[in-house]
Amino acid sequence: MKKMPQKTTVTVLGATGSVGTNTVELLHHHIDKFEVNGLTANMNVEKLAKQAIKLKARKAVIADQDKLGELQSLVKGHNIEALAGEGALLELASQKVDWTMAAIAGFAGLDSLFAAVERGGKIAIANKEPLVAAGHLLKTSAIKNNAILLPVDSEHNAVFQCFETKNKNSLLKVTLTASGGPFLDWTVGQMRNATPQQAVAHPNWSMGQKISVDSATLMNKALEVIEAVIFFDLNPDEIDVVIHPQSLIHAFVSYEDGSILTHMGPADMKVPILHTLSFPKRLNTCAKKLNIQDLTSLTFQKVDKEKFPALELAYKALKIGQGGCLALNAANEIAVRSFLEEKVLFTDIVDICTKILDMYEGPSQIQSVEICKQTDERVRKLTESYILDNYISRCTAI
Ligand code: NAD
Ligand code: MG
Repeated sequence: MKKMPQKTTVTVLGATGSVGTNTVELLHHHIDKFEVNGLTANMNVEKLAKQAIKLKARKAVIADQDKLGELQSLVKGHNIEALAGEGALLELASQKVDWTMAAIAGFAGLDSLFAAVERGGKIAIANKEPLVAAGHLLKTSAIKNNAILLPVDSEHNAVFQCFETKNKNSLLKVTLTASGGPFLDWTVGQMRNATPQQAVAHPNWSMGQKISVDSATLMNKALEVIEAVIFFDLNPDEIDVVIHPQSLIHAFVSYEDGSILTHMGPADMKVPILHTLSFPKRLNTCAKKLNIQDLTSLTFQKVDKEKFPALELAYKALKIGQGGCLALNAANEIAVRSFLEEKVLFTDIVDICTKILDMYEGPSQIQSVEICKQTDERVRKLTESYILDNYISRCTAI
């Protein structure tokens, strides 16, 4: 009798988010090839239960401990183990599977990402913030534990596909594209009063709130410059950014012989996710494909650094070292949250990050995960009190 090919086992951390949902859809499309060990979410228990049932997952983990009862009753009769709390999430992340999607938003995904890397296997990383804050530690751990790190961020996935490791010495430049976000054509004055609703309305990509705000300030691109330096072991001056409002070309890799390799695809995260899911092979997608005949114009323009000062902060942070990158990320997470809570204005986000980076006196290199977490906590507190003193108290005084 012919033996059935073994299914690839997978876990999705942050399954209910934008990247997580796309991953779940792809897994469902190829359900004959994958076996889902577990899915996780922070609070959205209904969506998590639906996804777990749809994919016949073995486990569903909700980070919010109070939602365990609800999760248990939603998955009852489906042979799914319902679990809750941070410990359960970490336990799931450290269970052996062939492929893990790290799609939790923000630094909050750090522990589960490390747990997955320590366990080995293929780790698809969408969750860029831990990479920005502790990328060197993650890479060291990956080497030690035979984990393969695969970039999901569309630009980095594009670079990964165009990067000729054997010709690294002939590489001249990596250029990441940026859509420019919803405020590309706005004046600074207009941006100053932009509302959270306007900031999260990205013209091309449908994403979570935090990354959408980052795309509007261009801080997302700053984080991505750092991500690329760490991921591909490049010097900061080997990376630049170009505005490409159509978001169809995701990166360029230039070599000294004059060749420029580029990756093109629709503005749909399913493409890079599927690339990492099937790597090193390729599977067919359930997403709409790009028709080259329909393309009328692709445009590129320089980044207006006066209008989008966030980008330069990446190079400033990289000059400081891993500690500077960590500080930039922590300050930005707090500043973005304050903007979404309408405590600061849109243009204050980058001003706050600039100030906190100037004030940063922590370690330039981050030697351990413990130091990383302590330093992150300190920068968050510094940023919160800076916002309180310079923005919130000032507003109440008026
Ligand atoms: P999202 O906000 O839509 O989803 C986040 C997911 O993480 C949700 O499942 C949520 O339940 C979970 N989560 C949030 N906080 C948590 C916590 N404290 N503990 C446990 N789980 C938690 O975010 P997203 O847009 O899918 O982005 C996820 C990550 O991928 C981010 O780091 C983002 O920068 C990166 N990324 C996203 C896109 C995109 O198109 N959305 C593209 C490239 C990279
Ligand atoms: Mg990106």
